[in-house]
Amino acid sequence: MQQWDVIVIGAGAAGLMCAIEAGKRGRKVLVLDNGKRVGRKILMSGGGRCNFTNIYTSHENFLSQNKHFCKSALSRYTQWDFIGLVQQHAIPYHEKTLGQLFCDDSAKDIVDMLLAEAKAANVQIALQQQISAVSFAAGQYTISTPELERQCSSLVVASGGLSLPNLGATPFGFQLAEQFGLTVLPLRAALVPLTWQPSDKAVFEEISGVSLPVTAQANGTLFPEDMLFTHRGLSGPAILQISSYWQPGDEVLVNLSPETDVAAFLANQQQAHPEQEVKTALSKLLPKRLVEKLLEIQILTNQPLKALNPKSIKQIADSLHGYIFKPNGTEGYRTAEVTIGGVDTEGLSSKTMEAKHQPGLYFIGEVVDVTGWLGGYNFQWAWASGWVAGQYC
Ligand SMILES: Cc1cc2nc3c(=O)[nH]c(=O)nc-3n(C[C@H](O)[C@H](O)[C@H](O)COP(=O)(O)OP(=O)(O)OC[C@H]3O[C@@H](n4cnc5c(N)ncnc54)[C@H](O)[C@@H]3O)c2cc1C
Repeated sequence: MQQWDVIVIGAGAAGLMCAIEAGKRGRKVLVLDNGKRVGRKILMSGGGRCNFTNIYTSHENFLSQNKHFCKSALSRYTQWDFIGLVQQHAIPYHEKTLGQLFCDDSAKDIVDMLLAEAKAANVQIALQQQISAVSFAAGQYTISTPELERQCSSLVVASGGLSLPNLGATPFGFQLAEQFGLTVLPLRAALVPLTWQPSDKAVFEEISGVSLPVTAQANGTLFPEDMLFTHRGLSGPAILQISSYWQPGDEVLVNLSPETDVAAFLANQQQAHPEQEVKTALSKLLPKRLVEKLLEIQILTNQPLKALNPKSIKQIADSLHGYIFKPNGTEGYRTAEVTIGGVDTEGLSSKTMEAKHQPGLYFIGEVVDVTGWLGGYNFQWAWASGWVAGQYC
C-alpha cells in the first residue's frame, strides 16, 4: 500500500495546478491520469496555441446553477496571476480578440510550464492508470488500480467533462461524486456546433464554408460574433457560444446583418441605383453565396430595386435581421469543447472546493457545475479552482 498526502485524479489543467500548489505547501502529492501524456486538452486547445485565459474574466462569463459559486476562486486566483506565471516562464503570447490570450508558438509551452512547476514542487505523476475503485475509511481514501492500492487523506477529483471521449474523457468524476452522496446536475454538450433539420441540411450544406458576422440569440442571451455554415449545421464562435444557452426544441434568432440597418441600406441603394437587382445590392452586405441561397429558397425575391415599396423593403430587412434557425440538435460530445452541468456546487465549499459533507474530498475544474464561455474562460476556471483547492487539500 502506497501512502500519499494528496492524490489528484486527472492530469489536466485543474489537476496539475492543484498538485503544484499542494506540493509547494510540502504535501506529498501524486497525480493519476488514464492517458499516455498530461494535459491533452491543453495541447489541442485554441487550435494548438491554447487560449489560456481571458483578460476580461469575471463571474458573468460562466454558467452554473449557482452563479455566485465561482466568484471566490476567480477572485483569489485571477487571470493576472496566471498571466504572471506565463511571463515568469518567458512564454510569448498575444491577445487575439476580445481579451483572449494565446501562446505565440505552441500550447506545449503551457504544458511544459506546468510540468516544470510540478517538478519543482516534487509532484509525482503516474500515467495510464485505470482506477477500478475508490473507498473511504478512517479518514483515508483508498484508490485501487489493477496493479496496486494507494492511500491518501485528501482526494482531489479533476477528471474533467465528457467532451472528446477519444481523448480520455470519462464519467469517472460524476460517478465518484454520486458514490459519496453529492448531486450531479444534468450533463449536456456545450460550446458545440448546432445541426440542421434534414430539410435545412439539403438546402444549406452547399454553402458550407461561408462565414459572416452575426448576432445569435437564444433564451434571452445574445452573442455578437462570427457564424460559419458547415455540412452538418451552423458553427463559428457565435453559434458555439449560444449552444451553451440552447435547449432542445429552442429556436436561435440570428441577425445576419447586425451592423447595418438593411431597410435603410436598401432605401439608399434604391435611390442611387434603381435598376440594380436586390441580389446585387444585398451581396454588398452579405456573402454572395448566402444571398443566392436565400433567393433560391424564396426567403428573398430578386427584382430591380425600383420595384420595391416600403413594405417589401421592411419584409427583406425583417427576414435578414431575424432569421430563425431551429436546430435539430448538437454535434454532441464528439466535437463539444465542454460539458455543462456536473457536480452540484451546493455540495461544495466555494472557498476550498471541498465536499461539505465528505471531509478530504475535493472537486475542481470542468467536473464541477461551472462552465465558461468560449474565449479562455474555461481554463481560467480550471486554474482558479485548482489553485484554491491546492491551498487546502
Ligand atoms: C478541442 C478543445 C479545445 C478547447 N480550447 C479551449 C481554449 O482554447 N480555452 C479554454 O479556456 N478552454 C478550452 N477548452 C476547454 C478546456 O480544455 C477544458 O475546460 C479544461 O481542459 C478543463 O480542465 P480540467 O482539468 O477540468 O479537465 P481536463 O483538462 O479534461 O483534464 C481531465 C484529465 O482527467 C483524465 N481522466 C478522465 N477520466 C479519468 C479516469 N477515469 N482516470 C484517470 N484520469 C482520468 C483525462 O485524461 C484528463 O487528462 C477546449 C476544449 C476542447 C475539447
